[in-house]
Amino acid sequence: MPLSKKNCPCQINPSLETISTPLAYEDCCQPYHNNIDKAEGVQAESAERLMRTRYSAFVLVKADYIVKTTVPAQQAFLDINAIESWAKETDWAGLEIVEHTPKLGKRHAQVEFKAYYNTEDGLQAHHELSSFVKVTDKTASENKERWYFLDPTVSMSVSQKQPCICGSGEKFKRCCGVYLAN
Ligand SMILES: [Zn+2]
Ligand SMILES: [Zn+2]
Repeated sequence: MPLSKKNCPCQINPSLETISTPLAYEDCCQPYHNNIDKAEGVQAESAERLMRTRYSAFVLVKADYIVKTTVPAQQAFLDINAIESWAKETDWAGLEIVEHTPKLGKRHAQVEFKAYYNTEDGLQAHHELSSFVKVTDKTASENKERWYFLDPTVSMSVSQKQPCICGSGEKFKRCCGVYLAN
């Protein structure tokens, strides 16, 4: 069976016995993966959708997609080779969205999830709370908004009073700094 007809990786949830109507990859994450470089392409309409497409990108080793869906100011700090080898070495086993908080303040959202993987000791899960920011593309003729992942592991030397890395025009500490505190 071609990959496009198979169940999308993000549709596999080991904590559920069955999923009634799992989507095929071509009807789920593939359009997002294929359009990442196109300005007018399909873009994740919510933080949860972006989270799902990023999980599928890890399973299918699309490190480029992981980089390009991280907030632009952080992209240069990401190690694409490390992302790629981690994605390859992990025996991914499914995704469970625990909770999606679609609106936090003006432009943020959070998704709590479990990304499952197999190890010699059995099924394990990365249980994480990820934060996302909605960025307005001011170069577009009409205001286009796009969700990005905020990576808390990237250390950037930005002071609390500087303008935020997401380009919102607000101070970092009042904007993405809230979600990048570590
Ligand atoms: Zn999917
Ligand atoms: Zn921000």
